[in-house]
Amino acid sequence: MTDHMLTIALSKGRIFDQTMPLLAQSGITPLDDPERSRKLILETNAPRVRFLIVRASDVPTYVQYGAADLGVAGKDVLLEHGGAGLYEPLDLGIARCRLMVAGLPDVAAPATGRLRIATKYVRSAERYYASKGEQVEIIKLYGSMELAPLVGLADRIVDLVESGNTLKANGLVPLEHIADISSRLVVNKAAWKMKHTAVNALLDGLRAAVAGRA
Ligand code: ATP
Ligand code: MG
Repeated sequence: MTDHMLTIALSKGRIFDQTMPLLAQSGITPLDDPERSRKLILETNAPRVRFLIVRASDVPTYVQYGAADLGVAGKDVLLEHGGAGLYEPLDLGIARCRLMVAGLPDVAAPATGRLRIATKYVRSAERYYASKGEQVEIIKLYGSMELAPLVGLADRIVDLVESGNTLKANGLVPLEHIADISSRLVVNKAAWKMKHTAVNALLDGLRAAVAGRA
């Protein structure tokens, strides 16, 4: 860890696209576009700031272990990760959606046996059903959750819903709201102490950018 070097872990796609305007307002812009470049380490106009391009669900891991000082991750990903080794000082208010239970309309829960829930959000689903005192069987999937109820793999899914168009396109309906999701700035706990000045300066810039767009 170079003393005043700040490494920020981000994922490509909506988080990168929606974080860039906020970082730009804080004076930081990347020298390459991750959608065009194959580089996984992007330098920025700020000589002491660089970005790491990682899988969305890997952002908390890079930050937890200090391979990145900071990161931007969806609350969905943070709920699954558990937050060990991280501070979560700022809600960036981007990539907003809801974590929901969805399923086919007008299908009653099975009379006997446990409800089967397909999801990539195993911990959040477990926690949600435990809080309702319902015993369910969780089936871990990595994507295309909407398919599971259509082919009898599961009774319901737990997934992110934004407009509901993906559900609708597959004949599914939202049934229960679990959590509101947005992306958060996360900071490695050691970096928070050791690089406090640099981390704070970035945090102030992002806070102002977020407040400015509210
Ligand atoms: P990968 O595509 O690498 O499997 P991913 O699907 O989690 O990972 P994205 O689709 O870019 O990656 O999602 C990144 C984050 O954006 C999610 O963790 C979530 O917080 C948020 N997000 C996902 N889907 C939506 C959506 N439909 N609307 C708004 N935000 C979303
Ligand atoms: Mg995706």
